[in-house]
Amino acid sequence: MDEFDLIRRYFSTLTPPRADVALGIGDDAALLRPPRGHEVVVTTDTLIAGRHFSEDSDPQAVGWKALAVNLSDLAAMGAEPRWFTLALTVRMADPDWLAGFAAGLGALARETGIALVGGDTTQGALSITITAMGTVPAGKAVRRSGAQVGDAVCVTGTLGDAALALRLGQGEARGEAQSAELERLRTRLHRPVPRVAAGAALRSVVHAAIDLSDGLAGDLRHILDASDVGAELHAHRLPASPAFKALSDPEERLKLQVSGGDDYELCLCLSPRAIAKLRKRLDVPLTEVGRIVKGKSLKLLDVRGKVLALDPYGYRHFT
Ligand code: ADP
Ligand code: MG
Repeated sequence: MDEFDLIRRYFSTLTPPRADVALGIGDDAALLRPPRGHEVVVTTDTLIAGRHFSEDSDPQAVGWKALAVNLSDLAAMGAEPRWFTLALTVRMADPDWLAGFAAGLGALARETGIALVGGDTTQGALSITITAMGTVPAGKAVRRSGAQVGDAVCVTGTLGDAALALRLGQGEARGEAQSAELERLRTRLHRPVPRVAAGAALRSVVHAAIDLSDGLAGDLRHILDASDVGAELHAHRLPASPAFKALSDPEERLKLQVSGGDDYELCLCLSPRAIAKLRKRLDVPLTEVGRIVKGKSLKLLDVRGKVLALDPYGYRHFT
């Protein structure tokens, strides 16, 4: 199977056509038609075997997650997803792996309506780069720099599930109830659901947003730096799933929820008065976890308002 067979077989018809694609896969480049009065929002993420996933990971999960992390970035900007490209490097054309990968990728693409419009296929160490594009009405993108003193800090969904799944590793859990819960955590790690609908709904309501990939503390820090403000987070308000509550060690909970990565939830800063209105528009729970304050520091408070120790950086690359 040469490169062109591979593209035809797995990728050319993976996603349904869209009216805003004038020319998709098959030419030297794609032609896209952003709606009048909109700006194009572009983001790229790379997943490398041995670093972001293991060589023997389920290829469906790899395909799903490679797109999910990009859709999560678009959601955090308030963008509506439209198009993506795929640069795929594989050691060899393994039909089982490619079919699985395409199935996972295609499932999430169809669910969110995003179209694959081009890419590149090369031979080498397994890695996947996706560039995703979306649109926002001009001037309406949500940035990291808009948080204001007095804003509520809110998060979608629950925190810590993926980090706990990673922590618990592949070890078999005892008992059936436990394994069902462990399965739920693993799904959160391997098949994160990007908050695409929430992304479009939060536009023009929130002042700043970021998606949570490296842990709440480290990611919120980016908003604080960009907005030149501080924040206080309330440890007891951080939302946890039933599976997380059942399987996490109480000693480790806070660390997993504050510094664990891979949540792919959204962290939002908005006027406290706007929370109820936003909640009605969302298809996912929204929890108020803290406030934006003057200064630069990020403080984590316990239920009595006492300051707790916190690694302010979450998980960092290149350390
Ligand atoms: P070129 O040599 O002009 O870069 P390629 O031979 O790399 O073109 O690709 C042929 C066509 O297939 C192009 O339209 C390209 O965007 C598309 N393509 C290549 N690899 C992929 C892929 N992995 N997924 C989707 N489209 C791809
Ligand atoms: Mg090429």
